Amino acid sequence: FDDRDGWIWMDGQMLPWREAKLHVLTHGLHYASSVFEGERAYGGNIFRLRAHTERLIASATILGMAMPWNAEEIDAACLAVMAANGLTDAYLRPLAWRGTEMLAVSAQNTRTHLAIACWAWPNLFGEARMKGIRLGHAEWRRPSPQSAPTAAKAGSLYTIGTLSKHKAEAEGFDDALMLDHRGAVAEATGANIFFVMDGALHTPEPDGFLNGITRQTVMALARQQQIPVVERLIAPEEIARASEVFVTGTAAEVTPVRAIGDLSFTPGRITTALMDDYSSLVMQDPATVAQRLG
Ligand code: PMP
Repeated sequence: FDDRDGWIWMDGQMLPWREAKLHVLTHGLHYASSVFEGERAYGGNIFRLRAHTERLIASATILGMAMPWNAEEIDAACLAVMAANGLTDAYLRPLAWRGTEMLAVSAQNTRTHLAIACWAWPNLFGEARMKGIRLGHAEWRRPSPQSAPTAAKAGSLYTIGTLSKHKAEAEGFDDALMLDHRGAVAEATGANIFFVMDGALHTPEPDGFLNGITRQTVMALARQQQIPVVERLIAPEEIARASEVFVTGTAAEVTPVRAIGDLSFTPGRITTALMDDYSSLVMQDPATVAQRLG
């Protein structure tokens, strides 16, 4: 992914894609001291840019990393890197990490570095998306908030995601359903999950995983459509009771789920309505989006 044309914003400079490199003794590489974002631009506007920027800064703060750029500067850099690449519809990847200033568990003297890349990326699940994706069961559980900084979008938390996704793919699934430390339903490896039960939308409380920006958006849209939204502990045995299932995420958008293990689901009225509503909202200008979400 490093050998291609394009521009990457790095520590305040716009660098040719191939030159955005790091030294091998980077703290972030050895001790996973990195946080990142995944954002999407539609028609030249980055959807909920400020919410993503604020989460990036919050993730860095949770990891004790001082962010040398403020929200205005980061927003501007995101828009600048899109413009430099001539993209209006794109996926953006801001990444902050501790540098090479020292290399030990103690990282007191490291600086926080920031890079932002962007590229065209239609959907996380590609072709599978429209038919609905199939989720396998992950063996790894999301750690408790006492065991890991689960509210941060930290690189270190993705190890079990990659392992779970690989196992699911080896078994012929598109992604994996992960449980939390209590054995309750948590999320997919890069997206939050929703179940339609008796006409209401049920979703796990995000007390041990990322409270996705898409998740929050979709909950607001559902409430506007008078669909009741219930955040609660969901036991895996309850999944069989769901009439529709879908996942949400910046990369996944709203993607129907047609199977979880041996169970099958058919995307229905509520999934379709929220997919439509979400796809029209992302095309609005930022002021309209803010107004619609209140
Ligand atoms: N959970 C995980 C593990 C993720 O990586 C993502 C994608 N950032 C999400 C949930 C969904 O978050 P968002 O809607 O903010 O993209």
